Amino acid sequence: MSESNQEYIVISGARENNLKNVSLRIPKRKITIFTGVSGSGKSSIVFDTIAAESQRLLNENFSMFVRTFLPRFPQPDADAIENLSMAVIVDQKRLGGGSHSTMGTITDISPILRLLFSRVGQPYVGPAQMFSFNDPQGMCPECNGIGRSLRVDMSKALDKSKSLNEGAIMLPGYSADSLDQTMLVQSGPFDPDKKLSDYSEEELDQLLYGKAKKVATQFGGKSVNITVEGCIEKFTNKYIKRDVKTMSERTQQTVAPFIIEGTCSSCHGARLSQAALGCRINGLNIAEMSSLEVGQLISVIREIDDAVAAPIVKSLRERLQHLVDIGLDYLTLDRETDTLSGGESQRVKMVKHLSGSLVDVTYIFDEPSVGLHPRDVHRLNELLQKLRDKGNTVIVVEHDPDVIKIADHIVDVGPHAGSRGGSIVFEGDVQGLLEAGTLTGTHMKRPLQLKHECRQPTGKLSIKDATLHNLRNVSVDIPTGVLTVVTGVAGSGKSTLINEVFLSQHTDAIVIDQSAVGVSTRSNPATYTGIMDDVRKAFASANKVNQGLFSFNSKGACENCQGLGVVYTDLSYFDSVKLPCEVCGGRRFKEEVLAYKLNGKSIAEVLEMTVEQALEFFELKEVVRKLQAMSDVGLNYITLGQPLSTLSGGECQRIKLASELHKKGSIYVMDEPTTGLHMSDIDHLLGIMNRLVDAGNTVIVIEHNIDVISQADWIIDMGPDGGNKGGQVVFEGIPSQIIHAEQSITGRYLK
Ligand code: ADP
Ligand code: ADP
Ligand code: ZN
Ligand code: ZN
Repeated sequence: MSESNQEYIVISGARENNLKNVSLRIPKRKITIFTGVSGSGKSSIVFDTIAAESQRLLNENFSMFVRTFLPRFPQPDADAIENLSMAVIVDQKRLGGGSHSTMGTITDISPILRLLFSRVGQPYVGPAQMFSFNDPQGMCPECNGIGRSLRVDMSKALDKSKSLNEGAIMLPGYSADSLDQTMLVQSGPFDPDKKLSDYSEEELDQLLYGKAKKVATQFGGKSVNITVEGCIEKFTNKYIKRDVKTMSERTQQTVAPFIIEGTCSSCHGARLSQAALGCRINGLNIAEMSSLEVGQLISVIREIDDAVAAPIVKSLRERLQHLVDIGLDYLTLDRETDTLSGGESQRVKMVKHLSGSLVDVTYIFDEPSVGLHPRDVHRLNELLQKLRDKGNTVIVVEHDPDVIKIADHIVDVGPHAGSRGGSIVFEGDVQGLLEAGTLTGTHMKRPLQLKHECRQPTGKLSIKDATLHNLRNVSVDIPTGVLTVVTGVAGSGKSTLINEVFLSQHTDAIVIDQSAVGVSTRSNPATYTGIMDDVRKAFASANKVNQGLFSFNSKGACENCQGLGVVYTDLSYFDSVKLPCEVCGGRRFKEEVLAYKLNGKSIAEVLEMTVEQALEFFELKEVVRKLQAMSDVGLNYITLGQPLSTLSGGECQRIKLASELHKKGSIYVMDEPTTGLHMSDIDHLLGIMNRLVDAGNTVIVIEHNIDVISQADWIIDMGPDGGNKGGQVVFEGIPSQIIHAEQSITGRYLK
């Protein structure tokens, strides 16, 4: 290899997914931005080739012994990948983690704040752990550091007008012939035919709150002892004393209706012991500091004038400043991370890396501008540049022209999606891209058009005196029968106004958000849209066999992978890893099922078709209609059998949109639907929104994208800024008026 090649990551002959023998060089210690329409192959290069290879190399560093316990990552399909440094992926996956994970803990700022309190807090109370709600020494003993106390909702748990046999206990697991109920009755003795309202105080207390005791019973002909406790006692121990948020989604759904939540009466939500809460710096305790917006906290910290604490104060200020720099100054350290949006999550992760001291790392970002108002994009740019200037290689998948402009190097993938993409259509600098005539280049040059002929509303939906999070008495009318865009800087209150306040009053609205779709690991576009049912019937009648054979949950499915096509390996210290099934080779069905054909194709071959290919293959009216809807929302390139879990947030949103497109007279609410979309895909999306409105629907969109805002019939701009500097409606009106609105930050970007 020549000396100069050391300065590049070199990829030759990459063929993952739709890639057509792609070869390219990515300059090291520079910012390289990948652009191109959705489905063109950007992720296939960046994630499935570069990041995957880095992960594989990382594993090779382990000894042979350790490696026998690790999954073998398959080599990405490429002739060569050279000069790769360690890659860190900063993506939009939400930060889960239950109640104990907060902004402060995830950014490592809370430990430093605790250290500060242990050094200079008055009165002096003890070590830093004393201030941690995750530590037995510091947590409020009443709520175990959760800040909320939960109670059983007795009106939902019991119906005292009934007897046990009539179903008086409505908690999960207590049907008349259940083990729990049978044993509970035996532990009494209780009369199962007596109404609970006729029970004596003592009996009732025993039934509901009886402490655990062993009761002998017959089981399989043997005498065994079973532990029995009162039904409320048992439910409390099982679900309330533990963090329900860490349990499976199904369990959470089952138990949620029986639990009511209130602020802990001991710590009033502060999560800490009384000793910790009594300790103050400049009049504030650690819980009060953690509930300040980062922007305010930084000035409070700046006031601390203490020689002992100087290095701690400096380190705190640096980290808090990173949060401010990235536009998260409106968040508080006590904010639970699972309430952050995808874009906010990605920016929080980014801060973690900025404070770190790693160099010569390849950082990979997935559309980091998501959720950012045009005003704040320059802050993101500065952070990307800072990472580069520390000596790292920065690789970004991005659609926002204002981010694309800072690239040292651009790789434009295309020309179109799926099989019509997978090639590199341009490589070079911004000036070159503008002259290249590719879809990206052409759209970047296009001037902004403000909509002038706005539709007339057919009526209005009123929000009155909304007060939640940072909203204070907000009243606003949302016009019906038109396209309304709700905009404003991050943290201004858009989601609170629409997703929480508005949707709680309009529960019939169709919400098209980016949350994951699909109930099981077997879900795919075909099952989600209902195409699979029609396909199964078609296979059955063509071959005169039972349609059940073609279901993933049937006897026809591969037994090794149970119709998944892949086998999951769980590892404690990695995400779970999935590997292709060795028996069916990913085809999911048994050989004999694969032998049945429909117009020459097996069921596995049908599932491997893209939407576009399936449109050519099928003539069935229902199937064609559903496929066409997916094609209309720009999902031509996905395959029918692609697991829904592999779809990005933006793709999930569009597949939901596709399955709701045929409704009429409805209210649609969409949260940043341009996520993952190229400028040319956005034109397409606007076309769909306009068709929905023309068909008599009301469409409400939360967006920062200038092209969407400029095409609204009505704009509601929240602000003026984020957090407690926001929460008001600063402008309501049509696009041509917002450019004259003094208070509107958004208006400035539409000029
Ligand atoms: P982009 O990142 O540009 O949106 P992708 O690289 O995700 O595009 O997708 C390129 C093509 O590869 C698309 O046709 C997509 O459907 C296909 N593809 C991506 N991931 C998978 C997968 N896990 N299985 C099958 N096909 C995939
Ligand atoms: P936007 O959608 O405009 O980005 P949000 O409605 O998400 O703004 O946030 C408005 C304000 O409310 C911010 O200060 C944010 O931190 C706060 N907020 C939003 N969700 C929650 C929540 N679940 N808990 C506490 N505060 C929240
Ligand atoms: Zn408490
Ligand atoms: Zn299998």
